[in-house]
Amino acid sequence: PLPATQIHQMLRQQWGDALLRRLHGIGRIAANLGTPAYLVGGCVRDFLQNHPMPDIDLAIEGDVRAVAEACSAELSGAQCTYHPYFGTAILRYPDGFQLDLARCRIEHYPAPAALPEVQPAAIQADLIRRDFTINAMAISLDPEKFGEFLDPYGGRTDLQRRLLRVLHPHSFLDDPTRILRGLRFAVRFQLQLEASTRGLLEEALTQNIFARLSGARLWRELKYLLELTDLPAALEELGAWQLWPLLRPTPLEVEPLLAKIRRGQQEIHWFHRHFPDEKLCDAAVLLTILWRDIPWAAEKRLHYWPVTDGRYILNDLHRLSEIPAALAKASHPSAVAQLWESLSLPGILALLAEYPETDTITKSGRYYLLKQRGLTSPLNGKDLQAMGLAPGPQLGKVLRHLHDARLDGAIKDKETARQWLIRQGILPSIQP
Ligand code: ATP
Repeated sequence: PLPATQIHQMLRQQWGDALLRRLHGIGRIAANLGTPAYLVGGCVRDFLQNHPMPDIDLAIEGDVRAVAEACSAELSGAQCTYHPYFGTAILRYPDGFQLDLARCRIEHYPAPAALPEVQPAAIQADLIRRDFTINAMAISLDPEKFGEFLDPYGGRTDLQRRLLRVLHPHSFLDDPTRILRGLRFAVRFQLQLEASTRGLLEEALTQNIFARLSGARLWRELKYLLELTDLPAALEELGAWQLWPLLRPTPLEVEPLLAKIRRGQQEIHWFHRHFPDEKLCDAAVLLTILWRDIPWAAEKRLHYWPVTDGRYILNDLHRLSEIPAALAKASHPSAVAQLWESLSLPGILALLAEYPETDTITKSGRYYLLKQRGLTSPLNGKDLQAMGLAPGPQLGKVLRHLHDARLDGAIKDKETARQWLIRQGILPSIQP
């Protein structure tokens, strides 16, 4: 077991003195109120792995509100927000740092996959309601035993052995979202399912447990999965856990789909590079996954997606396959623009993911996105010819340089573009 003194020292090394002082302060206030406080859950897991500063969750053995309000009154500048419905509180410090507080509780599931009934409890009981051993560890903040490590289910050993283990046999049936949470932890921390937990997963799937989960809860978990940095690894794991049917029928060949997703991520990066402030939801990836799925099956799954997203994703799914042929036939730039306009932004990116970066479709789609956002050259080919440049490949090259200069912010309108061409020696400084 890890002695409290060692934990204390590790906390100081990893999280720094300033945070440690805050934790001591909260621990003291909570103890004075007779309601001890603990670091708990993901932050303990991440701390043991020496991962960068995690979000910090505190469990309080008693009235959360009283502790949070006392902290807010006694600790310099910390603001408290209490959420009576959840019995949770957030402490926000002036420097932007925040801590989440929740009451220690036990949960009772009246039926499989139903929402739990909740009762206050002590920390030991609170730990057993949790999803996996690696998330069921706590560290005491009580001044008498600051740093005491609580690990009743062997989470630390499982973490060292890279094993994902539930705490009791009914865990996945009580709450099937734990299966998808587990999948995410397995991918993020390269964990294997422990043998009996694998058996419980298989049993839960045999009972078709996801059918009992509300669509909204299922999609929320799937969305988190699609947001994982190593998405191809996540989808491979999804296959290994026999969970493809949650997203779409199991693809006959996963590798080509993963290759497309990797290619799609290149387009998403390209987009973020040029438009860092524009929010892009994960629908682009979802479209790549669902495309060529049987339409009614995709429609059924999308039923649970938030309404606005779901509607445009369906529209894209119906249109995507027609666009390439229509683009090939489009004779005017306006016809090309209209075709791109008929897709949502995620739809466009999903389409580009079907083609190599150098393909004319990719270039056309990217050009449309830049133009739509006013980020293409303010001078076109005709303008350049009017300025005396001869038509031909050289002109194309100048146009590309102008696009780059616009993207880099070196030019913004026709006049700054003309000045730039003069500075580059492409136009003579005195024009007729
Ligand atoms: P991260 O935030 O890094 O994804 P986390 O473990 O902190 O990981 P949260 O979703 O914030 O994830 O959950 C906090 C803790 O609450 C978990 O560590 C776990 O102990 C518990 N928990 C969350 N969801 C469940 C659940 N569905 N069933 C049981 N315990 C849960």
